[in-house]
Amino acid sequence: MKITNKHNVPAPLVTLASKEYYSKGESSYSVTELMSPPKIKRLREQYNESIESDVADMLWSMLGSALHVVMERGETPGFLSEERIFAEVNGVTVSGAIDIQQETDKGVIIIDYKFTSAWAVMQDKVEWEQQLNVYKWLVETVKKKKVIGLQICALVRDFSRHETKQGYPNAPIHMVDIPMWDAVKAENYIKERLEMHREAKMAQDFGEELQDCTPEERWMTETKYAVKRDGRKTAIRVLDDKEEARILADSEKGYVEVRPGEPKRCTGNFCGVAQWCKQYQGELNDTK
Ligand code: SF4
Repeated sequence: MKITNKHNVPAPLVTLASKEYYSKGESSYSVTELMSPPKIKRLREQYNESIESDVADMLWSMLGSALHVVMERGETPGFLSEERIFAEVNGVTVSGAIDIQQETDKGVIIIDYKFTSAWAVMQDKVEWEQQLNVYKWLVETVKKKKVIGLQICALVRDFSRHETKQGYPNAPIHMVDIPMWDAVKAENYIKERLEMHREAKMAQDFGEELQDCTPEERWMTETKYAVKRDGRKTAIRVLDDKEEARILADSEKGYVEVRPGEPKRCTGNFCGVAQWCKQYQGELNDTK
């Protein structure tokens, strides 16, 4: 991957961005790779030399790396930081680097730091649940230690003390409890993901089409229906339900404007490979 410096930021930041702090060691899949859509992993490997990322867009990942370095200075008895655990599943090595393992009399509590938004904290984050439960499986399977809790330590980057919405974090550092899976569910999840990646690799090797990313993987937003009226700039209401919008439009003597959902990961190129993705490029061509 090439790091660019379009905004002329100081060179040490470019050096920092160029150093990959995280290493997945000798494993074939890190937990985050395992969770990522197979199409993205395949395309990123294929176009690795051509992918560009600007240093200014890497602020939060750099701060994430910086946090890991700082954590090494905060060594505390009973808390194990930054351990990478390896396991072999169906002949493939999988590894996960766990931010914190808190040892208690009853077992281990796994804690993962996340720089995130207040909005994300207020949602159910299925990826957090998957990631931490694979960590749990690694600790229980490899270290033979019981895990009694999973937590995200959310570092809320847009926290506001004046926000009063229900569920809004009450401090800029906010702990989120994550539901725990049993070992069978976690192992099945890992095997399922490995199989999806194996199939994608075979398809790529044989020059076949890669399986499409799903709407969830593309961060697809919902289609909305705006009820509008001629002569009025803003919508009367924006609704999720088409029929409800039609009824309101009739009663308001207006009309319905459809605002299609957007695959945010594609449109913002958050996968980094949008320009080589036939699925997304095909859709763009269809709308021209
Ligand atoms: S552009 Fe969209 S569909 Fe294509 S790989 Fe990226 S996320 Fe998946």
